[in-house]
Amino acid sequence: MANEVCFRTLDLETPWSLEAYESVGGYSSLRKIIAGELDHEKIIDELKLSALRGRGGAGFPTGLKWSFMPRNMPGQKYVVCNSDEGEPGTFKDRDILRFNPHQLIEGMAIAGYVMNATVGYNYMRGEFYEPFDRMEQALKEARSKNLIGDNILGSDFCFELHNHLGGGAYICGEETALIESLEGKKGQPRFKPPFPANYGVFGRPTNVNNTESYASVPAILENGGQWFLDLGKPNNGGTKIFSVSGHVTNPGNFEINLGTPFKDLLEMAGGMLAGNQLKAVIPGGSSSPILPAEVMMELTMDYDAIGKAGSMLGSGAVMVIDESVCMVELAARTAHFYYEESCGQCSPCREGTGWMSRVIHRILEGEGKPEDIDNLDRVAGNIMGRTICALGDAAAMPIKGFLKNYRHEFEYMIEHKRSMVKG
Ligand code: SF4
Repeated sequence: MANEVCFRTLDLETPWSLEAYESVGGYSSLRKIIAGELDHEKIIDELKLSALRGRGGAGFPTGLKWSFMPRNMPGQKYVVCNSDEGEPGTFKDRDILRFNPHQLIEGMAIAGYVMNATVGYNYMRGEFYEPFDRMEQALKEARSKNLIGDNILGSDFCFELHNHLGGGAYICGEETALIESLEGKKGQPRFKPPFPANYGVFGRPTNVNNTESYASVPAILENGGQWFLDLGKPNNGGTKIFSVSGHVTNPGNFEINLGTPFKDLLEMAGGMLAGNQLKAVIPGGSSSPILPAEVMMELTMDYDAIGKAGSMLGSGAVMVIDESVCMVELAARTAHFYYEESCGQCSPCREGTGWMSRVIHRILEGEGKPEDIDNLDRVAGNIMGRTICALGDAAAMPIKGFLKNYRHEFEYMIEHKRSMVKG
C-alpha cells in the first residue's frame, strides 16, 4: 500500500486545500484534543507505540523526543519544523509542503499542545518559493477556521505558526544552526549539550522535528499507534517517502511501507533508465555510504536493514547509479560539496573536507599517489566524531564508503591515470 500517511490527499483534485484534507479525516485529531478525548500522555504513548522515527535523517524515536520537552517549565516554549531539506538527493518535504500543507500544520499544532508551546516556526529552505506560498495560503485557511491562532475552536489552547524562508545554506538544516539562523544570526551549529529541548530558540525549550515527522502525527492519532507500526516493521513503523533520483526511468517521490524490498521501489520508479545495469545505490542522501548493487538488491528499505548493511536510511534520498558512473568522479563531487558547505568552526571539518576534496581531485587529474588512498581513509576517520556537528561525519562517511566498496577504481586511476569506467 502506498500514499497512506503524508501523501494521502495526493489523488484529490486540490490536495493542498483544507476541504481536501478534511475529506480524508484531517484535523480530527486536533478536534479530539480540544474535546478532551486525547491528552498529552496518551499522545506520547501512541507515538512511542507507532515506532515513528525522525524522518530528517537521524531516525531518533519521535515519541521519546517529545517526552524530553520540559512541558511544565514556566515561560515560552517553541516547536520548530525543519523544512530546510538541503541534503543532496532529497526532495520529499517540498512535496508535503506543496501538496498536503494542512497535515503539517495539524501535526505542529498537536506538538504545540503536547509541549505547552504556543508558537511554532516552519523553517523552509531558502529556495522553496512555491512551497512557501502554499504554506502561507494553508495557514490563512486554517486561521480563518480557528484551527490555529488564539483559543483554537473555542478552547483555551492557543498556537500560532509562522513560516520562515531560510538563508539557503546546507548547514542550516542542522538543528542548532537552524535555530541560530531563525534568530537572525549566522547559521552556525551550537555546541551540544545543552540540547534544544532545554536551550533552543531564544534560549527557550524547543522541539525540532522534520516536516515528514510532524506530518505523520495526525494520521497516527487518527488510526492508532499500532496501525502505524503495522504499516512498517518492528522498530521501523509506518510508511516513508523515498525520493528516487538518478538513472531510473521515472524519478520521483514514493510513499511506501518501511520494510519494502529495494527491488520493488526500483520497479515503482520504472526500473533502470534505458535498460542499463544497476551499479550501486546511495540509499539515504549524499552523506550515506554507497552500497553495491548486489547488496542493495537483497535489502529492504528500513532503518535497521540499511544500517546493518553499513549505510543509513537517512532522509530517504535514494540515488540510483548505473554502470556508466566513475566512482572517483562521484567521490570528488561529493567531497567538494561538503568542503563548500562546511561552516568552518572546527578544524577537523574545515581542514579535513578541503584536504579530502583536493586529494581526490588530484587523483582525477592523474597526479595521484598510491599512498593517497590510505591517507584519505585515515583523514576521513580522523574527522568522524571529532566535530561540533554531524556535518563532519556526513563528509567522512561517504568517502569511507567509496574507498571500501570501490577501492579498485581509485587504484586503477592512480596507476593508469585514467578512469577504469570511462577509459
Ligand atoms: Fe561547522 Fe563542520 Fe564543525 Fe559542523 S562539523 S560546526 S559544519 S566546521
